[in-house]
Amino acid sequence: MSKLDNRLRSLKIKRGEKMRKPIIAGNWKMHNTLFESGEMLKELLPLVNKSSVEVIICPNYTSLTEIFKLLKGSNIKLGAQNMHYEEKGAYTGEVSPVFLKEIGVDYIILGHSERRKIFGEIDVIINKKIKAALKHNLSPILCVGETLEEREKDITYEIIKKQIEYCLEGLKDTNLDKLVVAYEPVWAIGTGKTATKEDANDVISFIRRLLSEYINKKMADKTRILYGGSVKPNNIKELMEMGEIDGALVGGASLKANDFAKIINY
Ligand code: PEP
Repeated sequence: MSKLDNRLRSLKIKRGEKMRKPIIAGNWKMHNTLFESGEMLKELLPLVNKSSVEVIICPNYTSLTEIFKLLKGSNIKLGAQNMHYEEKGAYTGEVSPVFLKEIGVDYIILGHSERRKIFGEIDVIINKKIKAALKHNLSPILCVGETLEEREKDITYEIIKKQIEYCLEGLKDTNLDKLVVAYEPVWAIGTGKTATKEDANDVISFIRRLLSEYINKKMADKTRILYGGSVKPNNIKELMEMGEIDGALVGGASLKANDFAKIINY
């Protein structure tokens, strides 16, 4: 960073401004039918139309096409929750990056802990998916995070290092402008427990250092790194006040228009 960049950075921090445009992303998981998704959006759109953050919603596959139509002209972008790494083929039940791109999807959540834990997804597969997403001009939201057991063993940083290293393997010379990372401690997802803002900020700062080592500093400084894990209207502000936290990936609280709007308009 040049001296001028450094001065601008400290000025922004003093004014409480963010260096990178914040993202608030809602992961609807396997909730909301097509009808419910539409009703929720009707409520949400007028509440967030003045928001200055980048807002993303990630509904289930069957709602994507309809939701894309409803989002036209709004400031909300569309994301999906998973995809296969191949473009087409005999992969029963899977969805290709080409199909997602065709219907207007911009973001793709990859490596969510529920996919890792329930569906056995491992880092090498996530790595293939990230490569496929980038190839098809989708922005991957790569989720990493330690389990409670790993945190209690005091190996959080080792786990995060391994996940980042494996998931980004072979990407050193690729343009990673589209990459977003989400630090989601598994023990905080859907449990009502949140990492302290200091802990979340420290781990995110560590992830940025890793990106700087594995890829390069310029890319690390640009990459948005979000926190996820029981983010609610009452804790978003303090999390967003931390210098390294560039936004939030929100599960449960993104299902209620009022709560999600409060988080977006923190
Ligand atoms: C998530 O599923 O990514 C998540 C963070 O969920 P919750 O906000 O419900 O903890």
